[in-house]
Amino acid sequence: MTETSTPYRELDLQPLAGQWRAGSDRRLLDVFDPFNGERLLQLQMANRDDLDQAFNAARDAQAAWAAMGPSARAEVMLNAVKIFDQRQDEIIDWIVRESGSTRLKATIEWGAARAITLEAASLPSRVHGRIIASDVPGKESRVYRGPLGVVGVISPWNFPLHLTQRSVAPALALGNAVVVKPASDTPVSGGLLCARIFEEAGLPAGVLSVVVGAGSEIGDAFVEHPVPSLVSFTGSTLVGRNIGRIASGGDYLKHVALELGGNSPFVVLADADIEQAVNAAVVGKFLHQGQICMAINRIIVEKPVYQAFTERFVERVKGLAYGDPKLAETVVGPVINARQLEGLQQKIAKAKAEGAKVLLEGEAQGNVLPPHVFGDVTADMEISREEIFGPLVGIQCADDAEHALALANDSEYGLSSAVFTGDLERGAQFAQRIRAGMTHVNDIPVNDEAHAPFGGEKNSGIGRFNGDWAIDEFTTDHWITLQRTPRPYPF
Ligand code: NAP
Ligand code: MG
Repeated sequence: MTETSTPYRELDLQPLAGQWRAGSDRRLLDVFDPFNGERLLQLQMANRDDLDQAFNAARDAQAAWAAMGPSARAEVMLNAVKIFDQRQDEIIDWIVRESGSTRLKATIEWGAARAITLEAASLPSRVHGRIIASDVPGKESRVYRGPLGVVGVISPWNFPLHLTQRSVAPALALGNAVVVKPASDTPVSGGLLCARIFEEAGLPAGVLSVVVGAGSEIGDAFVEHPVPSLVSFTGSTLVGRNIGRIASGGDYLKHVALELGGNSPFVVLADADIEQAVNAAVVGKFLHQGQICMAINRIIVEKPVYQAFTERFVERVKGLAYGDPKLAETVVGPVINARQLEGLQQKIAKAKAEGAKVLLEGEAQGNVLPPHVFGDVTADMEISREEIFGPLVGIQCADDAEHALALANDSEYGLSSAVFTGDLERGAQFAQRIRAGMTHVNDIPVNDEAHAPFGGEKNSGIGRFNGDWAIDEFTTDHWITLQRTPRPYPF
């Protein structure tokens, strides 16, 4: 590894079964900058044969990789961390250009991907088997904990690098081989960059493949394939449900880790520090133009402070700079593509039609949608029920704290959540009654630390990422017994 690195080249090629090459599908995928429409890359997509080769190569390469032992696998992870540092600007640049992220968001994402890679370096030495007691005389009973084998990873476009890396790094570190299918909007930051980094870090060829292809074309084949033992999917609840169905109802049963949509409530109780709650709500809603699974989707404010909170919130949001994500001052950049923008505009029209009060609005310029705020929102409106995934939000008024809790829980989703109160223990009590995988008292719902359990309840998914929880997800138990003395059989 050299200190000064030349930028990665040939990002229009994919690492397929140990070789960087073009996909075999005749169709081309254009990758655009969502802000200015510039074409960044054109690549030839992978087809089912490529997918098959990638999975088979992963299966063949996995045992030798696992046999390399904990220190060698940790070293590859530590090398990758160094490369994250050396190539920080290059990596952040790709995230900005490919996903329309602001520099701030791209830097946060780079940091999160680096952190999970560093955490992954500790995982190989944290896997423990057990010797357990046996009721059978002369029997020694062991539980071996080892890799699953091959892990398939399907990732979304919103935090492409991190949401790929948070499965790939732990899965590899724990001795699995991996095949990634990145989102079609972000094949570079969602897969090809990770593969270049791991290759440079010393990962043996074939252990990690990336197949770039449309989910609607190769998605089912990816999940149905006999080789992967686990499909780790991060994306929408709609697609995730289908993956769960195929993985448990197809010819080859497999584990799934599903990290799906969210509808995070942000509750402000009457005893909260309103100024701090407003500061939090602005960031928790508008970071990455609201395109975060944990983003605030519903603001629920207790009646005595509803007016004060709402006025201050609108005032703050009015001041947010929107536009070119490459400019340092920009807070709200473009949404990922025109289709997504159209969906958001329909949500705005629906909110108005359902009687939500417009407190702030603005015209879209290209894919940049200025922040929208609605007041007098009720639980039955679409913006309360559905995941928004964009820079708009509704504020609901709760009669009291119990009503606020009921509103917070009134959702099919249960990923993240937040509550603001002047009394932290009251906050902890309140938090425990929210049905969600994650709740943050006096902070935003958007939190992710490489060693803390990340995941959702209800229709937000199955399983947990990070730290010890990644060990559970990416390894499996094998019960092996040794009968040391001849066992007397009953017949
Ligand atoms: P999406 O449409 O579900 O796509 C996610 C991934 O699935 C993409 O790689 C996509 O490929 C692929 N895919 C599409 N159809 C498929 C199929 N039939 N079989 C297999 N794979 C298929 O989600 P998105 O719009 O990219 O991302 C936004 C969603 O992700 C939101 O709902 C958000 O809440 C959720 N999300 C959840 C988390 C979490 O940790 N819980 C984190 C981030 C995002 P193509 O791009 O080729 O279509
Ligand atoms: Mg999509």
